[in-house]
Amino acid sequence: MRNSSVSIDDSGTIRDMGITHGSRKDEVIDCRGKVLIPGLINTHTHLSMTLFRGYADDLELQQWLEKKIWPLEKRLTGEMCYFGALLGAMEMTRTGTTCFVDMYFHMEDVARATEEAGLRGILSYGMIDPPTHEGKEKERKSSLKLLQHVSAMKSPRISFAFGPHSPYTCGEETLLWCRKEAEKENVLVNIHIAETRGEQAKFERDKKSREVDYLDKIGFLSDRVLAAHSVWLTKSEVKLYGKHGVRVAHCPVSNMKLAGGSVAPLPEMWEAGVPVGLGTDGPATR
Ligand SMILES: [Zn+2]
Repeated sequence: MRNSSVSIDDSGTIRDMGITHGSRKDEVIDCRGKVLIPGLINTHTHLSMTLFRGYADDLELQQWLEKKIWPLEKRLTGEMCYFGALLGAMEMTRTGTTCFVDMYFHMEDVARATEEAGLRGILSYGMIDPPTHEGKEKERKSSLKLLQHVSAMKSPRISFAFGPHSPYTCGEETLLWCRKEAEKENVLVNIHIAETRGEQAKFERDKKSREVDYLDKIGFLSDRVLAAHSVWLTKSEVKLYGKHGVRVAHCPVSNMKLAGGSVAPLPEMWEAGVPVGLGTDGPATR
C-alpha cells in the first residue's frame, strides 16, 4: 500500500491504517521513501561478538574457535559483553531487526543492554561441558542464574532459553538436563547442530552415530529445540527434525565464512515441515 499512514495509540497498539485521520496533537514520524514491515527476527546470534568483528579471518570453524576465539573469550568481562551487545543491538535496529535469539556468556549484562535498547531477546547462557563433575554443576548453576535473573527483570521483551553449545561440546547428561529443565520452565533449547563436515565426521568417529541420529536416540529432540546451522544432515535426519518439530536457524553467511562446506538443505526441510528462520550468527563469523 503506497502513500499511507499508520496510527498508533499511546499503548503502542495500531489503531488505523491507510488514509488515517489523526489529531494535531499526534506525534508524526515522516517515513516517506521507506517501507514499513513487521520487525525481523534474528534466530541465531552471539551479540557481544561485535567486539571480535574482523578478528581471526580466513580460518575454518574448529581452528577459529580453539586457537583464536575461545582463548579471547576467557578474558571477556561483563562490562565488555554489555557494550558489545549494545553495539549489536544498534546494528540490528538499523536493519529492522527487533527480536533476536542469543547464546553467550555474561548474559545478565546482555540482558541489560537488550532492555535498554528496547529490543526483544531470547537469551541463553552457552554451556560447554568441562571434564569434571564440579565443572558441569557450575555450568548448570550459571544457566539457572540467568533464568532467575531474567524472571526477576519481569520484562515483557526478554525471555530465557537453555543453551547447550552443541552435541560435541556437551555430553548426554547435560543435553538431557537441558531438555528436562526446558520442559519444566516452558522455554526453548538453543543449540548448534551439524555445522561443519569435519565436526560431523569426528562425531561419527567418536560416537559411532551421526549427530541428529544420536540426539534422537537419547531423546533430546523436541519442538523446543532451535537448531542453529544444521548443514550436514541426511534426508532421514531432516525427517527426524520434522517428526519432532525441531526448528532451524539457518545461518548461510556464517557457513560461508567458516568454511562449513555447504548450507542447510532447505528444500528437504520445507518438505518435512521444518520451520526455518534466518540467523546472522556472531558478528565475528560474517
Ligand atoms: Zn553460533
